[in-house]
Amino acid sequence: MPKDFLKNARDSYDVVVIGSGLAGMTSANILARAGYSVLLLEHHYQLGGMATWFKRQNGHIFDISLHGFPAGMIKSCRKYWTREIADSIVPLRGVRFENPQFSLETTFTREDFTRILIEEFGIAPETVQRFFDTARSMNFFDDQQKTTRELFEEFFPGRDDVVRLLMEPITYANGSTLEDPALTYGIVFSNFMQKGVYTFQGGTDLLVRQMREELERNGVDLRIRCLVEQIEISPDRRVTGVVVNGRRIGCRAVMSNANLKSTIFRMAGEEHFDAKFLEEARAIRLNNSSCQVYLAMKPGMGFDFCGDLLFHSEHRGFDIDAMLSRNISSRTFSFYYPETRPGSDRWLVVSSTNASYDDWASLSEEEYKRSKEELCRSTISCLEQYIPNLRDMLDHVEASTPRTFEHYTRHWQGASFGTKFEGLAVSKALPEQVSGLFHAGSVGIIMSGWLGAVNYGVIVANDVDKLLSPAAAGV
Ligand SMILES: Cc1cc2nc3c(=O)[nH]c(=O)nc-3n(C[C@H](O)[C@H](O)[C@H](O)COP(=O)(O)OP(=O)(O)OC[C@H]3O[C@@H](n4cnc5c(N)ncnc54)[C@H](O)[C@@H]3O)c2cc1C
Repeated sequence: MPKDFLKNARDSYDVVVIGSGLAGMTSANILARAGYSVLLLEHHYQLGGMATWFKRQNGHIFDISLHGFPAGMIKSCRKYWTREIADSIVPLRGVRFENPQFSLETTFTREDFTRILIEEFGIAPETVQRFFDTARSMNFFDDQQKTTRELFEEFFPGRDDVVRLLMEPITYANGSTLEDPALTYGIVFSNFMQKGVYTFQGGTDLLVRQMREELERNGVDLRIRCLVEQIEISPDRRVTGVVVNGRRIGCRAVMSNANLKSTIFRMAGEEHFDAKFLEEARAIRLNNSSCQVYLAMKPGMGFDFCGDLLFHSEHRGFDIDAMLSRNISSRTFSFYYPETRPGSDRWLVVSSTNASYDDWASLSEEEYKRSKEELCRSTISCLEQYIPNLRDMLDHVEASTPRTFEHYTRHWQGASFGTKFEGLAVSKALPEQVSGLFHAGSVGIIMSGWLGAVNYGVIVANDVDKLLSPAAAGV
């Protein structure tokens, strides 16, 4: 008999949360704390979504998306999770850039970027200050037509070196490009510039374990290996339940943390939405996907400090096509030292590159295997510039591609950072179409990444509460 992952689950709950990414878990936690019965369904065998890790022989643990996030995570985790989680968030020590135009190390704060822009790039102090102030004052209600390219052209005309410094890390953090709305850049960049880049000490496995414990303390019914196939909607457009692993479970609201497009088109079904809404949903562009190469050194063998994050590139200027190309010339290296998991004796490196799903989806199995091997080979050659005795120390190397991300998260085209800006309006409008149907997760660039996903989970949990609370029902 196959194992029943829904054993002893109730026949109905107040809320079903589909997916255990950071947004899904945060929503589930807030709603359970507020007293609702919550069922959290995750198709994968571990919680976390993209905030995940995997283990390999010899006790190596690789983090997938633990590279860096803004300091705002501390406040969000303290308020919506636990003090213990918030207290493990620590600053990165150094962010490095190595490319044909410049070589520098920074704390990635406004103060340090101001110094660099003035002293090393020769920009007038008033221009730098005006740029930071402009970025800082941007918000969701600003002009959405102005692009990031236009913003840079206004302040730093013809300066592709400055554009690269300001844009490259943000592109790696959320997949945005110069053609995306300037406000998405301003919001995310300013979040980082407040206090620099932070990480979670102890690794993603510890973070997700602590989150799971808190969810259990608050009474969330957690189920892994549970794939939601359908969101059940009544003819008068109200959520009534879900079908998961072939079983129907009733609920008053669904909070989907799955990809926005699969929530609408695969799980809910087109027949429940207005034509205009469907048109807007169809037009949503997904963000890019990623490739990664994971490298572990032999136990106890390591390298000197060479930065926490290193933006390496071999070409001039900021070029999104080159960044997405399978012919890789740009890589972000995350260096993990034993302090990442205090008490360990491991040095690891994860190399990340933005990637296009289409470049990987159509490869035959043989080509796919060869391309992954080539990805590992070229990454090792590149990394040797920074760790000269790398080959003597290497214990384990493997690669992931957009196909890997699609497989584990079920995101369309393995999208690493959700959707482009237009996805946010569609995500927010979902409950206006179907009462009780909500979505939270990486969308619209500004709600992407660890901080964006957690904060969007909070916002949407409050919307669910408004719908379900006895006050709203006139009780
Ligand atoms: C390579 C890489 C590096 C990154 N680096 C960083 C970084 O350094 N800093 C940063 O802030 N962000 C980073 N990110 C982005 C960040 O990890 C994500 O934006 C964030 O974790 C997404 O959270 P989410 O809540 O949107 O859900 P996701 O993590 O996307 O999770 C969605 C969950 O829903 C589940 N699911 C989907 N469909 C179903 C279904 N039908 N039934 C049941 N479950 C389902 C999936 O299995 C998954 O667990 C990175 C992402 C990638 C891919």
